[in-house]
Amino acid sequence: MKKTLSLFLICLITIVSWGQSQPGSYVKPVYQELPLGAIRPEGWLKHQLQIMRNGTSGHLDEVYAKIKNDNGWLGGTGDAWEETPYWLDGAVPLAWLLNDINLQKKVKKYIDWTIEHQRPSGYFGGITKYEHQNDTVVTVKNLKDAGDDWWPKMVMLKAMKQYYQATGDQRVIEFMKKYFQFQINTLKTVPLGQWTEWATSRGTENVMMAQWLYQITKDESLLELASLIESQSFNWSEWLGSRDWVIWAAAHQNGDQWMHRHGVNVGMAIKSPAINYQRTGDEKYLKDLKTGFTDLMILHGLPMGVFSADEDLHGNDPIQGTELCAIVESMYSLEEIAGITGDPFYMDALERMAFNALPSQTTDDYNNKQYFQMANQVQISRGIFNFSTPFDRGMNNVLGMRSGYTCCLANMHQGWPKFAQHLWYKNAKNGLAALAFSPNTIRTNVGSDSTEIEIAENTSYPFDDKIQFDFKLKNSVEFPLDIRIPAWCKEPRIKINGKKMPVENNGQIISINRKWSNLDQLIVNFPMEVTTSNWGRNSTAIERGPLVYALKIKERWEKGTDEKEGDYFSVFPESEWNYGLVQEAIKKPKEHIDVMQVDAANSDFIWNQDHAPIEITVPGKQIPGWKVIDGVAFQPVTDRDGTYKGKVSEKTEQLTLIPVGCTKIRIVAFPVVK
Ligand SMILES: [Zn+2]
Repeated sequence: MKKTLSLFLICLITIVSWGQSQPGSYVKPVYQELPLGAIRPEGWLKHQLQIMRNGTSGHLDEVYAKIKNDNGWLGGTGDAWEETPYWLDGAVPLAWLLNDINLQKKVKKYIDWTIEHQRPSGYFGGITKYEHQNDTVVTVKNLKDAGDDWWPKMVMLKAMKQYYQATGDQRVIEFMKKYFQFQINTLKTVPLGQWTEWATSRGTENVMMAQWLYQITKDESLLELASLIESQSFNWSEWLGSRDWVIWAAAHQNGDQWMHRHGVNVGMAIKSPAINYQRTGDEKYLKDLKTGFTDLMILHGLPMGVFSADEDLHGNDPIQGTELCAIVESMYSLEEIAGITGDPFYMDALERMAFNALPSQTTDDYNNKQYFQMANQVQISRGIFNFSTPFDRGMNNVLGMRSGYTCCLANMHQGWPKFAQHLWYKNAKNGLAALAFSPNTIRTNVGSDSTEIEIAENTSYPFDDKIQFDFKLKNSVEFPLDIRIPAWCKEPRIKINGKKMPVENNGQIISINRKWSNLDQLIVNFPMEVTTSNWGRNSTAIERGPLVYALKIKERWEKGTDEKEGDYFSVFPESEWNYGLVQEAIKKPKEHIDVMQVDAANSDFIWNQDHAPIEITVPGKQIPGWKVIDGVAFQPVTDRDGTYKGKVSEKTEQLTLIPVGCTKIRIVAFPVVK
């Protein structure tokens, strides 16, 4: 009886407001990150992480010469720049999410060396050339001559933060205090751009880390340092808000200020306004962010939820490419933005990117990746394509370990682990917030007396619309549980212990405040409907819930070897792909488009054709004149009414579409035919 009463009387659903602040004061994030390890991935997501652990993410230090040979972050003369910290930035969370002791030991070696070899001045990193040659150490005074690039240190700080969140190792805090004091002592005379423009383009990472430490130590000088670093960095916040930048980036592809349009820089920079808002409380930054992100996706957006970045922003033609680093950096930015702003708009964007853009760019075993994937990619092959950096060996599009520029091989590891780490956050009342969804179990403490709780999130989302939360706790405890209702879901349903709760709005976060008890069960349903969306060159994409769908094309894989860039795979189409979608079907998807759940995404799930758990059939007609030219399927021209006016086959065929994340070769941005 008591339980029933509590259900009816205490249950309260409210819409959480976000963005409130007082100008001039530091704004606490709406949602706080949980310690690394509190969220344990399960089901398909866990399997994905296990694949990564067994592949390059877990073994990069053994298989990749740049990290393996005499590593600079272990005191050697090898890589002391970005690639080792990139790898750690993904491998550290992977090691603790999987509770993998071996991988923990491996990554700790680099963390330990870096902490133990911090110079008395506070400087850290590989032994510099000057230090080697002069048998000395970097000091505040000799930094200009003796030091090296500020940039890779920013990534190492990110890895350190995660290691601290996993272990509570206090050395990290002391290490950071000392380093930031060193920056306070030196940046005015040895500014961020002293060695590379990478540091000035990516200063946001440094700002973010100083502010993270501020939240722990409350040392005001860290906020002054953050402002100083921001003032020496590219002014991304203003650029994103002022619109001129993104328009200029759409129109220029020459060498003039290309760092301003470099896609990976942009992916990192989108969090800049949120970080500045946090420090200043100035809500103008939130407007800049919304304007900038929306402009970016309109002018450069691709159906998989990412912008073109091949290497630069390059418009929205479906044959443009995206660098893998641009995806993982943007995802991490969105995870930070989601916590700081609490705005579900960015969480929708995060899921779209994670479930559509990310999975298709690596091989099943996570040992090969594409430097650039294209949206419409009917073959993966060597060639000089319409990328802003075509590179003369033509290896940018193939699947290889060392093909293209190698940053992605080192950096791709942060995609899935950090996504898993940001499925849940803490809300302001020591409750929980489920802001992105995937199978996992969370163990943490909640409520006013920090009661231990375990919630198993049982689901095959994004392939299933049902998410079941099973509660385990010793004592009942009252706390608000926030749930994001995706913007695409028109009729969400929520049940607590079998009783239906009223939910009205999508695109919101609802808060369920009640006394939760052992064995409580919360079931959330996000019914998915087939919808269409319009993309570059007047193309159409088919979507359903969080997933975008692409034509299933029979694949033929070929192995090749390049003298400089090693082994790689090409993939060619073995079935017809040159189809347009029938306009009548696009107008009335409910009548003409069928959805088949062919399987559930279980714990053996792999993001590939064979495992695609859902198929969509849609009527289409072949466009005989649409052919591969120089390795590329250039988009057919369509009229203002949206249809292709050239010759179209008479015959209507039922096309099979699968989630774009399960494809390697595909059409995702379709022309439409009558
Ligand atoms: Zn890269």
